[in-house]
Amino acid sequence: MLTSVVLASGNAGKLKEFNALLDPLGLTVIPQASLGISEAPEPHVTFVENALAKARHASACSGLPAIADDSGLCVRALGGAPGIHSARYAQLEQGDRFDLANNRKLIQTLEQVSDRFAWYVAVLVFITHPDDPQPLIAEANWFGEIIDTPRGANGFGYDAHFYIAQHDCTVAQLDPSVKNAVSHRAQAMTLLLSKLRERGLIPL
Ligand code: IMP
Repeated sequence: MLTSVVLASGNAGKLKEFNALLDPLGLTVIPQASLGISEAPEPHVTFVENALAKARHASACSGLPAIADDSGLCVRALGGAPGIHSARYAQLEQGDRFDLANNRKLIQTLEQVSDRFAWYVAVLVFITHPDDPQPLIAEANWFGEIIDTPRGANGFGYDAHFYIAQHDCTVAQLDPSVKNAVSHRAQAMTLLLSKLRERGLIPL
């Protein structure tokens, strides 16, 4: 059984989410920064490769099993962009990395585009050691469409422009507890837990 795992992220919100899930299973989640581990480079073109690179880096530096995640927004009409560049989409051209600029760029790019189908993706990777030949990979999508006019004040990133037909509102209009139960990250976490269970790494 696992007793501790390093989280390859400096994001306090993610640490909280992973802790809430894993602590009741007797698994201590250690943020990499508390071990003096720096953020790994993310040089790859896919979410899964970047998540794996982050997990390997954290595991190699700590000597412990590691979990990493990578997430973003993919728009069908844009060939999956902004994708791995979601956090810094606007910066690619404007030197501006904030959510507002990212959303402005997205809506401008889609100005003449009628196909607004999009999805959030979350990829989680778990490895027992840096050379683990079979990383556990949990990937989940949350489907919706991009709307021009922002709605709602919750969430972050692209949430105010991401409309979910099933809820008839944007993600920014959803109660955070609802988002945390059904989001791409929540779905990927559920999947990762079942994979950890299957391997006998956490209790049934
Ligand atoms: P990261 O995985 O924390 O680096 O997130 C990458 C980027 O994807 C974020 O900065 C957001 O732009 C976008 N993103 C990922 N998940 C969400 C979400 O739940 N809501 C809104 N934007 C998201």
